[in-house]
Amino acid sequence: MSLSPSNFENILVMGKSGAGKQPRIDVFTADFGLKQLSTGNIFRSFMKIFNDAAYEGDIDQFYNIDKNEFIEDKKMKETLGSSINNSLMDDFILGLKAHYYVSNGKYVPDSLTNRLFESYFSRSDYKGMVLDGYPRTVTQAEYLFKLTSEKGTKIDAVVLVENEDDAIIKRTMGRRICPSCGAVYHLEFKPPKDGKLCTKCGTEVILRSDDTEEKLRTRLKEFHEKTQPTINFLSEKGIPVVKAEGNLPVFTEEAVKQSVVDGLKEAGLL
Ligand SMILES: [Zn+2]
Repeated sequence: MSLSPSNFENILVMGKSGAGKQPRIDVFTADFGLKQLSTGNIFRSFMKIFNDAAYEGDIDQFYNIDKNEFIEDKKMKETLGSSINNSLMDDFILGLKAHYYVSNGKYVPDSLTNRLFESYFSRSDYKGMVLDGYPRTVTQAEYLFKLTSEKGTKIDAVVLVENEDDAIIKRTMGRRICPSCGAVYHLEFKPPKDGKLCTKCGTEVILRSDDTEEKLRTRLKEFHEKTQPTINFLSEKGIPVVKAEGNLPVFTEEAVKQSVVDGLKEAGLL
């Protein structure tokens, strides 16, 4: 199968948490020359900028509890003054905000997620990306749609990895990760050595703390309430929604690739 690296400008891979998005993302990075842009990594990188600056002041002073929002950036800058290197200031403030919401377990407002996302997306001229974890709400999708239109790029397709809730629960509960090197296993589909040891480094594998059934059900609910309307919005804007079967009878790289390619062909994109 020969695929052109320049088939697409940007692809969104969406689906329920645990549906199997990463192997489909891998197809786009390996065969279509796109780069993965994941919101999780963007947040981590901004929080690292904040942490690396080792700011010792009080960060609650920047948050207006009554209005439930941060004070203006201009005022934050005045207060931070020379304690933060001027060339780092904008990124530091974004990192501070990300840190504030995440460490307090608060819902991150779309406006902040959009700004963090755009700062990375702009570095690649708004193209060449397979987006992961963004957009997650209709508001974010509106922002992305407007941004690509303004910048003269586009979203070629939403690749929706389909999987039933029950299948996801069964699969996720069997997942194990290596706490040492990060390798991912599955008790049934990709068993670790002797059922418990990482084949790469020998460490005993564990169930991620995020993989409890209760947390999983919360993430599935979020998909139905927020992500599904987001996909509907993008579809109404004329972006093709390509369905990729998530529950493959044989889970090999080749089978995953074939399922993605079949979906793209069926939608007339290849
Ligand atoms: Zn390992």
